[in-house]
Amino acid sequence: MRGEILYRRLEKCDLCPRRCGVNRLGGEKGVCRVANTPVVSSWGPHFGEERILVGKNGSGTVFFTHCNLKCVYCQNYEISQLGIGEEITVEELASIFSKLQDMGVENLNLVTPTHQIPFIVKALEMVERKVPVVYNCGGYESVEVLELLEGYVDIYMPDFKYSDGELASELSGVKDYPTVALEALKVMVKQVGEPVIEGGTMKRGVLIRHLILPDRLENTFGVMDLIATLEPKPLVNVMAQFRPAYKATLYGFQRGITRREYLEAVNYAEKKGLRLIEVERWLRWL
Ligand code: SF4
Repeated sequence: MRGEILYRRLEKCDLCPRRCGVNRLGGEKGVCRVANTPVVSSWGPHFGEERILVGKNGSGTVFFTHCNLKCVYCQNYEISQLGIGEEITVEELASIFSKLQDMGVENLNLVTPTHQIPFIVKALEMVERKVPVVYNCGGYESVEVLELLEGYVDIYMPDFKYSDGELASELSGVKDYPTVALEALKVMVKQVGEPVIEGGTMKRGVLIRHLILPDRLENTFGVMDLIATLEPKPLVNVMAQFRPAYKATLYGFQRGITRREYLEAVNYAEKKGLRLIEVERWLRWL
């Protein structure tokens, strides 16, 4: 079973490209600060995600605590950086998945799963899966681990944050983010293929999220250039929700993005032929 195979990687952890090499099974912690049990912040039907994930009954979201990235502007920093959440067992995680499905959610949406994937896969192996599984991650993924997720994940929803390695280093602590994320995306689009939407909800495929950063449009344009090289073409949500959260002001971010910045990003993406979603929603919001 894949859960067991993934668990073995915890012994010298290389679940993500940071490759900390710590013995998480023995209780050690690496950059992501999680050892050998699931840590969950909250779970339930969520209606704030993309319309094609929410459907009628909501996206069955599980927020996993901590993260393998250290974004200084994280919009969810209480969970990802401050570690708000509780340790649970794998059996309890399986029970959460079952309860969400019994509530009629449209999918199981795993938020920040990368560093907890052995627990998640083991829990998925304990339940009858009735809805698509969404892997909702930061984009800094190991190709070897993604290959082990074939058959477990139906929808990949990665961020693609940076095309500029210096910016990635400064703001998230990973200089190789652009190349690592692109390689991961190639595996994702190959594994789950063309986006499939039935009855208004997404069943399969890749949906990339990109959060525009104020005064950093060149980074956004570079991300769009890289996404345009992917085949089959993923869906793309160019997001306007940036707020100067967590440590952002210390790094020169004092505001959200403007409508003009958003329109420039969208125009560029459209010229590149990207399959954008949620544009009208962001324009109403800005
Ligand atoms: S999952 Fe955590 S411990 Fe493992 S390599 Fe990544 S950051 Fe390090």
